[in-house]
Amino acid sequence: MLSATQLIHAIPVDPLTGAISVPIYQTSTFVQESPGVNKGFDYSRSNNPTRAALESLIAELEGGSTGLAFASGLAAIDAVVKLLKTGDEILAVDDIYGGAYRLFTAVYEQYGITVNFVDTSDLKKVADAITAKTKLIWLETPTNPTLKISDIGGIAKIAKANGCLLCVDNTFATPVLQQPLLLGADIVIHSATKYLGGHSDLIAGILVAKEETVGARLKFFQNACGAVLAPFDSWLVIRGIETLHLRMKHHSRTALKLAQYLAQHPAVAHVNYPGLPSHPNHELAIQQGKTGGGIISFTLVNDTNEAAIAVTSNTQLFKLAESLGGIKSLISHPANMTHKSIPAEKRRAAGVKDSLIRLSIGLEEAEDLIVDLASVLDSLEINESSNAYLVNNEY
Ligand SMILES: *Cc1c(COP(=O)(O)O)cnc(C)c1O
Repeated sequence: MLSATQLIHAIPVDPLTGAISVPIYQTSTFVQESPGVNKGFDYSRSNNPTRAALESLIAELEGGSTGLAFASGLAAIDAVVKLLKTGDEILAVDDIYGGAYRLFTAVYEQYGITVNFVDTSDLKKVADAITAKTKLIWLETPTNPTLKISDIGGIAKIAKANGCLLCVDNTFATPVLQQPLLLGADIVIHSATKYLGGHSDLIAGILVAKEETVGARLKFFQNACGAVLAPFDSWLVIRGIETLHLRMKHHSRTALKLAQYLAQHPAVAHVNYPGLPSHPNHELAIQQGKTGGGIISFTLVNDTNEAAIAVTSNTQLFKLAESLGGIKSLISHPANMTHKSIPAEKRRAAGVKDSLIRLSIGLEEAEDLIVDLASVLDSLEINESSNAYLVNNEY
């Protein structure tokens, strides 16, 4: 497990000046001594010292050979799909991030790359879905927004046996909670927009490859296609990573308290949180992911759009917004926000019910967040037990 000390001291001191904070090299080009003779940098799309510092840092945290920083999480995902050729197939988790779904289907199907969506929380379904065309397995674990857990180590074995690459979107867990490359994955991607950045102030993406050969091909695409992360934004991600350990611990601890509170609330039908023993893959979740993480979703007894809108529009501390992983707690209603473009029947079949509500737990006090949720949930169904719970549990 990645310790806080390891993480903090993986952040480099500037070798040139001793600056303890990584300098921002805000430059497009680098003066050369003679043609082709330089100090390792010639043009900032190809390489930039601030971006390079972030790239080596994240490679070290994930336990890979090559780190790469992109202008967004989707640009990072795009670079991975470019490893494929016409006729190849992606086997992807069914509860996939909407932007990845759109990229795989609306963009890459045009070029003859197909995608097969499978419930990857079931190893047998993964093994059965592999064909001779499958070249890439795409996992998110936990998934968004139903928090399903897939067995990274088990799926890595299936990938290896069938000669395909395994790529894990580690946005929700971060290397503090889960290190997919150490469990056998080949590539890790992050939307650094979320926990790595951690302050809701940038858009960024990360790739880490385990093997140098795969890393070199991805680096070629990064430079050839050009969606690189700017020096200042690279610095912001490094600055975010400085407190990642502390933040992930706090997010997880508070999320567990909120999940427990929600699970006993009479207006709540079901809570999806990998840290609760009631989660179908709880054991695996805390073994490969250490904690349940900072994201919770839940449905209401009154499973309607109206009830979900009443809850999500009336919290004070929880701000109604897309995205996740920042210091302020966010609340969202997937059926009307992130998943609105998916037909209602298909959306419901994937577990995204009309009343499903997603929470990104920030860094506030658990007690204050519970009071905020109680103010909206208790008005759906007044019940004394929820208040008794608050008093009895010293939040
Ligand atoms: C946000 C997100 C992405 C996309 O990242 P952007 O930085 O928004 O491009 C990919 N995967 C997951 C799990 C995400 O939450």
